[in-house]
Amino acid sequence: MNIVKDFSLTNYNTFHIDVKADYFCEIHSLEDLQELLSHNIFLNNNRLILGGGSNILFTSDFSGLVIKNSIKSIEEIHEDEHFVFVKAGAGVIWDELVNYCVNKNYGGIENLTYIPGTVGAAPIQNIGAYGAELKDVFYSLEGVVLKENKLKEFYKKDCYFGYRSSIFKNEYKNKIFISSVTLKLNKIPKINIEYSALKESAKNYKTEELTVAKISEIVKEIRKSKLPDPSEFGNAGSFFKNPEVDKETKERLENEFEDIISFNTDKDIYKIPAGWLIEKCGLKGFRLGNTGTYKKQALVIINFNNASGKEIYEFSNFIKDKVYNKFQIELETEVNVV
Ligand SMILES: Cc1cc2nc3c(=O)[nH]c(=O)nc-3n(C[C@H](O)[C@H](O)[C@H](O)COP(=O)(O)OP(=O)(O)OC[C@H]3O[C@@H](n4cnc5c(N)ncnc54)[C@H](O)[C@@H]3O)c2cc1C
Repeated sequence: MNIVKDFSLTNYNTFHIDVKADYFCEIHSLEDLQELLSHNIFLNNNRLILGGGSNILFTSDFSGLVIKNSIKSIEEIHEDEHFVFVKAGAGVIWDELVNYCVNKNYGGIENLTYIPGTVGAAPIQNIGAYGAELKDVFYSLEGVVLKENKLKEFYKKDCYFGYRSSIFKNEYKNKIFISSVTLKLNKIPKINIEYSALKESAKNYKTEELTVAKISEIVKEIRKSKLPDPSEFGNAGSFFKNPEVDKETKERLENEFEDIISFNTDKDIYKIPAGWLIEKCGLKGFRLGNTGTYKKQALVIINFNNASGKEIYEFSNFIKDKVYNKFQIELETEVNVV
């Protein structure tokens, strides 16, 4: 375990923000973490746990210690007639775990193909895409409670998963170092093509052709065609969450804006696509200095050319104000602003 001083984080966040951490340390095993927990630099500094940096916006240098999780392993720990329990180290790249499962025809995470980042961060915001969420296949996770130096197991009921949220994004933020995640996957996969874009593409195939591998391939193609590649344009995916409104608000918006889109998520709770709201403000593909929104998806903020994190953050507030002034809806930031 090696602690590096004045460490550049430019290649450790997908916005490619040029910032430094006072201290940086990469953890490859629980033994590494044990060593770190008694170190003075750990004890005397602010800490930030980092995965792939694909859901973080750094607005300044980080004053303290960045702990990068690089614990890597994939194991099948249990199986029965219907399910297989796959345990992955938190530092495994999420899409590598998806590929592992897809290649074995284990069903459940194929719709979550090609989401950047690490396995350990997946429960933090209960990653979701194309009609699936991590919580659908989540069994448990192990994490070290940093204050007590204790390894603890969290089951689904302990995690309070919600829409792009969990207990780890809220009260346990930076307090629990997630070291592994166990998923419960289907040995007899059930294909889920409820999401409209997926359903549309799936029409090109016969039912028997729609295997876990095919769904994964389709999702990858759709994502590649719609989302910017962070290696080309720095970004962190959706910058905002889709706002959830009550029936009264939805009806007010429908009266004012004929083409409004909404999805009924729960009894009398409706999700309005944030991308649609931003687009309606004339901000799709809009550029302001070094930052702006992606031309194909207004929900994605781009670092076009060496933007600072502060510049991007201010631009996100500009978007929030525009949306609020037009719709009286508050956008909530999905990305972790540091
Ligand atoms: C192009 C693009 C597309 C995306 N599409 C989607 C999508 O479809 N759906 C979706 O949900 N997200 C999406 N995202 C967001 C992002 O990929 C996910 O949120 C991902 O899970 C973040 O993983 P990470 O390892 O990069 O986390 P990081 O950005 O490194 O960290 C995110 C948060 O988790 C904490 N954290 C990370 N690892 C640990 C750990 N081991 N223990 C404790 N805390 C930890 C960090 O402190 C931080 O608060 C997208 C991002 C990009 C760039």
